[in-house]
Amino acid sequence: MRIPCPLCGDRPLEEFTYRGDATVTRPAAAAPMEAWVDYVYLRDNPKGPHREHWRHAQGCGSWLVVDRNTVTHEITQAAQARPAGEVQR
Ligand SMILES: [Zn+2]
Repeated sequence: MRIPCPLCGDRPLEEFTYRGDATVTRPAAAAPMEAWVDYVYLRDNPKGPHREHWRHAQGCGSWLVVDRNTVTHEITQAAQARPAGEVQR
C-alpha cells in the first residue's frame, strides 16, 4: 500500500504510522461517563470506506486524514490534518 502524502508525494506504507479513527469526536467535559467510555475504548470496525488518521513518521512528520477502503486499501483522499479547533474544509 502507498499513501499520497500532500507534502512528499506517494510514499510506502512503512513510512507511516496508523493513529486511529478520524471520525471520533471528543465529548464535552461534562458529558456522561458512557460518552467518555465510548470515546476512549469503543471503535467501529468498518468494512469499506473509512476516514483515518495517519502520521508520516518516517517522512515529513505530518498528521494526515486519509480516506481508505478497508477492503481494497484504495485511498481516495489524503489531506493534512488541521490543528485542534480549526475547521477542515
Ligand atoms: Zn510527508
